[in-house]
Amino acid sequence: MLFSLLAIDFPEDLAWRYLLKLTSFGPRYPGTQGHRLAKEYIIQELSRYTHPDIQVFFIDKIEFTNIYATFGKGKLKYVIGTHWDTVKDVGANNGASGVAVLLALADVLAKENLREKIMLVFFDGEDYGELINGSQEFVRRMKEKPEGVVIIDMVGDKNLEIYAEGFSLAFAREFTEEIFKLAEELGLPSFHREKKYTIKDDHLPFLRAGIPACLLIDFDYPYWKTPQDTPDKCSKESLGEVGKLLLELIRRN
Ligand SMILES: [Zn+2]
Repeated sequence: MLFSLLAIDFPEDLAWRYLLKLTSFGPRYPGTQGHRLAKEYIIQELSRYTHPDIQVFFIDKIEFTNIYATFGKGKLKYVIGTHWDTVKDVGANNGASGVAVLLALADVLAKENLREKIMLVFFDGEDYGELINGSQEFVRRMKEKPEGVVIIDMVGDKNLEIYAEGFSLAFAREFTEEIFKLAEELGLPSFHREKKYTIKDDHLPFLRAGIPACLLIDFDYPYWKTPQDTPDKCSKESLGEVGKLLLELIRRN
């Protein structure tokens, strides 16, 4: 098992550089300069790997943008998503960590021979107003249903602890258990199969549409929605664990 974990070539150093770059834009609160800069940066980086698409929508006259990119051919296997907006703090864990993992994953997927399609989605407006705005918009416009959805949020904490989440277990038990079993097989120490929290996040619109969706979140983060949510509370090893799990999930199918 140790061998298989070592063999997973997820670039956690690259993910870490992405996290630092994203936080350098300051808060990515909708309508701000930091929000615009981060949007342009995500599109620019994805363009190195593939051709990204965008979905624009408006709330309170503010422009929101979902960004997504597809890798491989065939039917749509997984949507892997995260939100890229933040509240009014720098959001190293809540906002940057998920984006960092997905951009580094794009670097790998671009070189991979995929038999089915994998779509990476960067949702906007998860933390704005009534919450989960981008994922709701995405599901409303979705033409092809994926077989499964994994949402990552707050996956950068130095002391990473990810427990099975309530809605994921209630409405996508089989898929959720498969993911946590895989984490166990890979010997990833931060994943726990027990349920701890039930959280409104970007997996809900997919679950409501009858699509198996699993939220991977570390909700034991004391700096959540505070000005102390900065890179020094995060680690590249945590990003690496989540990246390895996602990569192995994709490769096993
Ligand atoms: Zn979040």
